[in-house]
Amino acid sequence: MTAPPVPGTPSDLPPARTLLARALRRRCPSCGGGPLFSYWTKMVSECPSCHLTLQQRESGYTLGGLWLNLLFAELVTATIFVGVIILTWPNPPWQRLQYGLPVLALCTPIFFFPFSKTLFLALDLVFRGRDGRS
Ligand SMILES: [Zn+2]
Repeated sequence: MTAPPVPGTPSDLPPARTLLARALRRRCPSCGGGPLFSYWTKMVSECPSCHLTLQQRESGYTLGGLWLNLLFAELVTATIFVGVIILTWPNPPWQRLQYGLPVLALCTPIFFFPFSKTLFLALDLVFRGRDGRS
């Protein structure tokens, strides 16, 4: 016999793939509601549908989102750098890479910012639940 799910625990949330899919659409990972952003980089304080606290969940939440954002930006830049060199060898466009990659490295974090916030929130929900206690 299994115990009924306790409200606020990870077991009353959708599966992890649903949480992550909603986060990739910049929706609330918990309920799929939204919009969660009033501007591209301005996240509302709580979900308009389920009232999940989106900001100030804890001190490491902002740092986690920034870490995820930086990781994605570096991966995209490094992947494009290596891909262009492999595809254009033996004459890689060094000058285009020299000027294009820094621009890409600066623009990618701006593009990925809202996704990193919702994805980190989804990961937080997967591992710790809605109230962050698990
Ligand atoms: Zn919600």
